Amino acid sequence: MSAGDILELSASAAAAAVDSGELSARELFETYRVRAAADRDAGIEGLNCFTWVADEVPAEAPPAPLHGVPIAIKDLFCVEGVPSQAGSRILEGYRPPYTASSVSRLREAGACLLAKTNQDEFAMGSSNENSAFGPVLNPWDRARVPGGSSGGSAAAVAAGLAPWALGTDTGGSIRQPAALCGIVGMKPTYGTVSRYGMIAFASSLDQAGPLTRDVSDAALMLRHMSGRDACDATSLHSASVEPPSARRLDGLRLGVPEELAGEGIEAGVLECCRSTLSLAEGLGADVAEVRLPHAPHALAAYYVLAPAEASSNLARFDGVRYGLRAEADDLLAMYTRTRHDGFGPEVKRRIMLGTYALSSGYYEAYYGRAQRVRTKIAEDFAAAFQSVDYIVSPTSPTVAFKLGERTSDPLSMYLSDYCTVPMSLAGIPAISIPCGLSDGLPVGLQLAGPALSDSRLLDAAHALEQAIEFDPRAARV
Ligand code: GLN
Repeated sequence: MSAGDILELSASAAAAAVDSGELSARELFETYRVRAAADRDAGIEGLNCFTWVADEVPAEAPPAPLHGVPIAIKDLFCVEGVPSQAGSRILEGYRPPYTASSVSRLREAGACLLAKTNQDEFAMGSSNENSAFGPVLNPWDRARVPGGSSGGSAAAVAAGLAPWALGTDTGGSIRQPAALCGIVGMKPTYGTVSRYGMIAFASSLDQAGPLTRDVSDAALMLRHMSGRDACDATSLHSASVEPPSARRLDGLRLGVPEELAGEGIEAGVLECCRSTLSLAEGLGADVAEVRLPHAPHALAAYYVLAPAEASSNLARFDGVRYGLRAEADDLLAMYTRTRHDGFGPEVKRRIMLGTYALSSGYYEAYYGRAQRVRTKIAEDFAAAFQSVDYIVSPTSPTVAFKLGERTSDPLSMYLSDYCTVPMSLAGIPAISIPCGLSDGLPVGLQLAGPALSDSRLLDAAHALEQAIEFDPRAARV
């Protein structure tokens, strides 16, 4: 097979080609390794997708269902012996002594680690501009951001530098970069994939999930990493994810919430989503309006809850246990200098916000209240799912924006997750699929379902994907 033919294969197709003997696992891995290493060596002259690339080709295909298909993994997943810094300077030089459960499971299923991907520091951001390794560029237009925080994973898959990638989503960090890069990204039901070995941001929201070229690959990856894990008490026993096969949506009711699909959404994005809804009707779906009255408050609640959890999770980085240590005469000065030098400005902003929200006099007024808003949002979804099967909205209010455009205004950056944060707070599964172009840039459509409907959701997304026939090739490098 020529390198060009290899790059055309989805991860599922690549596994099948190795299985049938058409392609060797070695050749497959080396084709991607050379491309990924070239991007790493080019730094910001390339897309800057990777923080680390494997330097060896696995000897032979593991006798397992994924047959040695290479996988790129967001930097925040711990992999034994491999640099894992969560995009932060504070973890400089850290090589974990253990491997995240999701990564171990994918390896046991036959996937081979190709590279670690660039990301916003500790997964805080929507543009990948908050990384200690520099920004990632969008392969559709290098003057634009790939989205974040899983920006390196999304750009690598879109550009054909990896067949698929693993990311995490706390408030939108899989779905939004997938939308901005024209690929598929899914946040499974909270608890579906073990968080063990993920460097934590906001533990009640963090969820690992796939960034892939198509919906079948997303299902395949999820199938091989989900399930209960004794090392994560919040992980769930979930039904096995089956390969999606639906081509029609007969009898399914799609609900469009005006709160997430009206004011504040770019016209070109709305236009693409509307024409996709017409396609859905052509496949037999009923499209109806639903209400999510508390969804407009999701972002405000998220920016209390996520920083509160982050301020607690990030307390462990003090120069004693891992990574960077600043020189100082006494212990307190060592702690503060290490944190001063090691954390970037957005991380410091979140720690301050979270520490304030949790301080004794304000706890009830901020944290307690945000928790109540979170419950209201979950109740809105539960009520909506009484009348519809799935909720449909744009994934991102805009297409990929220019580098630097939102860096000086945190609020405008935070608004990037307006449509994705409500599902995160409710813990429900949501997937973004590419649904067309606006001004030559990809638009993502988000479908969300009730908790544990992941398999059905993938099936519906698959039917829509077949009808949309999105062409990703303009992004290949
Ligand atoms: N952009 C959001 C934030 O900065 C979401 C990030 C994420 O999902 N990890 O918090």
